[in-house]
Amino acid sequence: MNEFHKGSLEIICGPMFSGKSEELIRRLKRVQISGKSFLLFKPAIDNRYDINHVVSHDQRKLEAVITGIDKSSIEGIERTIGEKNPEVVAFDEIWMYDDKIVGFVMDCVRRGRRVIAAGLDTNFRGEPFGNMSQLLAHADFVDKLKAICIRCKSREAVMTQRLIDGLPAKRSDPTIVVGAAEMYEARCRECHEIEQ
Ligand code: ADP
Ligand code: ZN
Repeated sequence: MNEFHKGSLEIICGPMFSGKSEELIRRLKRVQISGKSFLLFKPAIDNRYDINHVVSHDQRKLEAVITGIDKSSIEGIERTIGEKNPEVVAFDEIWMYDDKIVGFVMDCVRRGRRVIAAGLDTNFRGEPFGNMSQLLAHADFVDKLKAICIRCKSREAVMTQRLIDGLPAKRSDPTIVVGAAEMYEARCRECHEIEQ
């Protein structure tokens, strides 16, 4: 770990399929190689592929501590970090956590830890997602990754398209849908669609 990463917040954001999990795993593997200790947290509801690991769409994986996302779960994360005292703390899909995570993350930073957080910057409507706008404002380092637009295949994708039964989701649809027949695609601004 470079000295300048100590006591700082790094954000890796962008739409789905932009390589956020891949980049998070890459950074943490380098932390491992340098012999530093780390803890990686991920929300329990993000159980797309593997319950105990963060897994990228390209099947790269790293072991993670599974947590809830509410205020009391964040207290649990705080306790785990207090016990294990890792030099680096990482979160995948940080936008899912209660807003209390922002104060907690900044506390970790002030105590000299390197914090790396990955997640969507905008929801399917293109609006700033949950705690992400605050975290981006506090961050020391920000990387905004882009995917390839799966519709035109000629521009980079900065948006996450939600499809329900193959059709664009409506603006009035809930921001987070659990268990619905939904699907996501990476799209550029021109190809991104929302039903009004
Ligand atoms: P994220 O965490 O941002 O959703 P991942 O790190 O899980 O992204 O996955 C990134 C990988 O997804 C890429 O390396 C590539 O193999 C694959 N992929 C699938 N669809 C796309 C796309 N439209 N644009 C770029 N990569 C894509
Ligand atoms: Zn496009």
